[in-house]
Order: sequence, then structure tokens, then C-alpha cells
Amino acid sequence: MKTIGLIGGMSWESTLEYYRLINEEVHAKLGGFHSARVLMHSVDFAEVEAMQQSGDWQAAGQLLADSAHRLEQAGADAIVLCTNTMHLCADDIQQAVNIPFLHIADATGDAVVSAGLKHVGLLGTRFTMEQDFYSGRLSRKFGLDVLTPPEKDRGIIHRVIYEELVHGIIREESRREYKRIITGMVKSGAQGVILGCTEIGLLVKEADCDIPLFDTTRLHADAAVDLMLKIG
Ligand code: GLU
Repeated sequence: MKTIGLIGGMSWESTLEYYRLINEEVHAKLGGFHSARVLMHSVDFAEVEAMQQSGDWQAAGQLLADSAHRLEQAGADAIVLCTNTMHLCADDIQQAVNIPFLHIADATGDAVVSAGLKHVGLLGTRFTMEQDFYSGRLSRKFGLDVLTPPEKDRGIIHRVIYEELVHGIIREESRREYKRIITGMVKSGAQGVILGCTEIGLLVKEADCDIPLFDTTRLHADAAVDLMLKIG
């Protein structure tokens, strides 16, 4: 087994999930006393959030490239960035290291294609829903048709992420709103919905909906374990 390098803290609520899921998956695959070889570099989310607000993606890219570089120096064999949004800086991170960078949209695209779906809804921060780095990659690389909710609902999804989920706050009213928005996307033709923010799985579970949900945290964690066991 190789060592995975996690860039965490965005938010730490979802980084905890990565750590748990990666260890559970290694144990499920190898059994016995096995657990995952993990290095983590966890940032201060306040710094990153301020860069998002001011649109300073260059500074954010430098910060995350520095994290990746530290993980490589410390002995990581691959890099996993534990957030969808900050994949806006994926190129900066990949360029900073000589080890593989496991893109979250690729783990997700593989799962959607394997499920035989083509029209898929995307929930995430406004950055993830409205910029090209995520849906563009899914359509160009995986041939997917990506739908996002209407403007007002995108605002609700984004607000709940930053005002509740990243602070560990889970509200029933917000779960209802997310389910309403998911139902709306199904009416618009979505065959499944990508939970394209690593905290959404804390609020909405597969059992809450009767269409396939693609939880990017789980898919990314599983892909990380596959890679660790394959290259190791
Ligand atoms: N974890 C979230 C995501 O997957 C949002 C927090 C962030 O801005 O990184 O996009």
C-alpha cells in the first residue's frame, strides 16, 4: 500500500469524512488490522474562504500548491484535494508535484458513466455550479450533460454550505430545501444528481431520494484507496 497525501481543512468537517471513509475502505479491502497510510496537510479555511470571496484564485493556487509540495516532500505517493471548489486550482497543484493528482471530477465522472447515466444534476458552491472547471471537465472528458438548479436555488445551495454545513450545522429545513431542488432537477431531466460539495453528504443521504446520488466525498475517497492499492 502506498501513502495518500490529503490536502484538508476545506472544511475540516468533510476532511474527517475522507479520513474515515479511506480507512474504512482499506479495512474492507485488506481486512485484519489494516488501515490507511495517510499524510495530511490541513489549511486554515478562513484564509481560503477570504481568497474565494475576493476572487484571488492565484493566491489560493499558490497556497494549495505549497501544501501539495509539502506532502510530496514528506513522502506522499499521490495527492487528494478534499474539496470540489478548490479544484479550480487543480492545474497549480498538479504542476507543483511529480506525483499523481487525483481529480475529484474524474472519480465522479467515472461513477456516473459506470451507472450508465448521461444527464446529471450538479449541486455545489456557486463556484462549482457556475464556472467551467467542473461541469466542463465532466462534459468534455466523460460526455455528460450537466444540469444546474435555477439561480435562486443555486443561492440557497451555496448559502447552506457556507452558513451551515462547513460549521457542522445540519438543519431539517435545509434538507427539505435540498430535496425540493433535487426533485426540480429530476423534472428538468436529471437521471441522477452529483453532490458536488464534500459537505453535502452530511445533509442529504442516498436514502432521502429515489434517484442515484453521486457523493463526491465517497467517490473520491474510494478512488484514492484504489490508487493506493494499485500503485502499491
Ligand atoms: N468542501 C466544499 C466543496 O467541496 C466547499 C468548501 C470550499 O469552498 O472548499 O466544494
